[in-house]
Amino acid sequence: MSKKERVISPFHGRHDHSHCQNQAMEAAAAECKRQGLRLTTIRQQVLEIIWMSHNPIGAYDVLQKLQEAGHKPSPPTAYRALDFLVAAKLVHRVESLNAYIGCPSPGAHHECQFYICTQCGHIAELNSSAVTEALRMDAEELGFKRVQPVIEVHGVCTSCQ
Ligand SMILES: [Zn+2]
Ligand SMILES: [Zn+2]
Ligand SMILES: [Zn+2]
Repeated sequence: MSKKERVISPFHGRHDHSHCQNQAMEAAAAECKRQGLRLTTIRQQVLEIIWMSHNPIGAYDVLQKLQEAGHKPSPPTAYRALDFLVAAKLVHRVESLNAYIGCPSPGAHHECQFYICTQCGHIAELNSSAVTEALRMDAEELGFKRVQPVIEVHGVCTSCQ
């Protein structure tokens, strides 16, 4: 697999983030259509908040931003919308940070690795089959079943070095 195919989301330096946002919302709409799912208003609002940056955001902060924007969903409604976005793979849960990050290529891949900058908080997403294959082979040797690799690498991105 080429380098380009592996990188789902690179570390962005200075860039026009509105481009990322527009592309993400278009990709989400297309993916929901493909899966026969409905991107309701609240789901869309939550997704827009998650895409405010390339930094992960916690569930509570999503709720606060919804309220700041004048939307007043009940917390369970907001959290259900978040669960929907994760299940539809429009958003990934970053386990080590207990937070969420938007996926720019929903539907295009199943497994991913996250590289998390401990300085600026930005996250890069890769889909490296070599990494997951190596893990599967090791798991097989252990007789380990139903493997669900969570790969989150903490370090410092190029902009912060
Ligand atoms: Zn961006
Ligand atoms: Zn992804
Ligand atoms: Zn950084």
